[in-house]
Amino acid sequence: MDPTTFILFGATGDLAKRKIYPALYNLFIDQKLPQSFALIGLGRREMNDESFKASVEQSIHNFSRREANNAALIRDFLRAFRYSVLDISRKEDYKKLLHLIEQREEELHVSPNRLFYLSVGPEFFETIAANIQESGLGSENGWKRLVIEKPFGRDLQSARDLNRKLAQAFAEHEIFRIDHYLGKPMVQKLEILQQNPVLNALWTNHYIANVQITANETVGVEDRAGYYDHVGAVRDMFQNHMLQLLMMLTSHLPKNSNFEMVRFKKKKVMEALEPLQKEEVSASVIRGQYKAGIVQGKPVIGYTSEPGIAPTSMNDTFIAARLQIDDYFWRGVPFYIRTGKRMNEKSTRIVIEFKERLDASQGTTDGKAPNLLVFEISPNEGITLQLNTRDPQHKGGYKSIQLDFHESQEDIPEAYENLIYDALHGNPTFFAHRDEVELSWKWVQPILGAFEENLVPLHLYEAGYYGSSETDALLAKDGYHWWFDAKPEQQIEPLLSMP
Ligand code: NAP
Repeated sequence: MDPTTFILFGATGDLAKRKIYPALYNLFIDQKLPQSFALIGLGRREMNDESFKASVEQSIHNFSRREANNAALIRDFLRAFRYSVLDISRKEDYKKLLHLIEQREEELHVSPNRLFYLSVGPEFFETIAANIQESGLGSENGWKRLVIEKPFGRDLQSARDLNRKLAQAFAEHEIFRIDHYLGKPMVQKLEILQQNPVLNALWTNHYIANVQITANETVGVEDRAGYYDHVGAVRDMFQNHMLQLLMMLTSHLPKNSNFEMVRFKKKKVMEALEPLQKEEVSASVIRGQYKAGIVQGKPVIGYTSEPGIAPTSMNDTFIAARLQIDDYFWRGVPFYIRTGKRMNEKSTRIVIEFKERLDASQGTTDGKAPNLLVFEISPNEGITLQLNTRDPQHKGGYKSIQLDFHESQEDIPEAYENLIYDALHGNPTFFAHRDEVELSWKWVQPILGAFEENLVPLHLYEAGYYGSSETDALLAKDGYHWWFDAKPEQQIEPLLSMP
């Protein structure tokens, strides 16, 4: 790995503490950091190097997946860390930063390879990129990279504008847009598994009846009211994470695909996704908002009673949609995607339901479970293949057998470890390309418009369930149901009727 200076904007923030420092520490333990590695943390808060190191150490104690109990190892790790005060809007601070970086590179006798990680609010992305460019922070004698956090825009136009502005300072191959779902180990395995000839042969509308992608959270809005109430599930989860899962699953990669092929194929999926018209959104999209209920045995308040949320808020905390990919492989296969807060359980999973070709030929399909392939993405990671087989005990009867593979949770790297490692290597496979981001926003745009104009009813669902009964109806229309929902009946109160 090339010697690298890691310049972290937002070094005093929540994400840095909870994800970035623990990820770097675990990479250090696994000897996956460059031999020569320096980190410069930036923020407005006054701090010297020692107190910065102490706060990094504290965050490792609090959040590292591996216990941080080896003092010598931690000391070694922290040796790379320095802190400098920088106000994003002050140009002179970038000059000071350049001086500090050059000084560090000289001390370490390394070439100027600089990775700029923007762990700050999205309103700062453009300004930082422009100031890096202007101040000469990106040296010509080494490489420069920009790692950028979500959210990337709030609609198609803002995402395009941001891409255009970033492109004035960084080439596309230098920009690494984080979607942390792409860092999850099972999502990364999807890329490899798809290239397996057995799965590849089954990966078509000949064999697959429908696909269900679910990302449930048990938490509510927490302390993010100010942000979330203007964003909702559609922007916070659907446009980015859920559509990325769809792309990763369906891109139909040939054997030995490289990152260019992965990106090319993902883009093709987005281009083949049947567009929605604003007026028709309500036929295939369900909008929901949680009301009070019980989540895992604990009573919780409704969304509009949460601190910082207006009692009249129409924000979506849940979205479900039926999508179709109009290409050779997927034509006719419905994809059902849903994500929401205050659900019954925390889980992200993909279920592939196969057609029952064997059974159908025998004319005995009634009442049997279909063959299923399940990818558990988080919090547990695993793959289950459920196969129907004749039951030798009961003549003419069938039973299911399950083939399970589950990874030991301890050994699984965090998404941020994978992503930071890849960014340090300059491997963009699991980052969102400019085209993917814009195509996702383009597909979502009619939904945003329909929500804004209240063309889609907002259904209240009781916290602790899996959304509203309309979500079930979305599948029932096609003769399917959601798999793995153990839910009792629930009351749905439409808050707003169709005009
Ligand atoms: P945060 O806790 O509010 O931290 C913001 C950071 O930005 C602080 O270090 C702050 O440092 C710095 N900052 C703010 N204004 C600045 C200025 N004018 N000049 C210099 N530094 C400034 O935010 P966060 O939760 O870490 O989120 C950071 C980014 O990650 C956001 O884009 C967010 O959407 C994204 N993200 C966060 C999470 C998460 O779990 N937290 C998850 C996914 C994505 P000072 O206060 O010292 O100036």
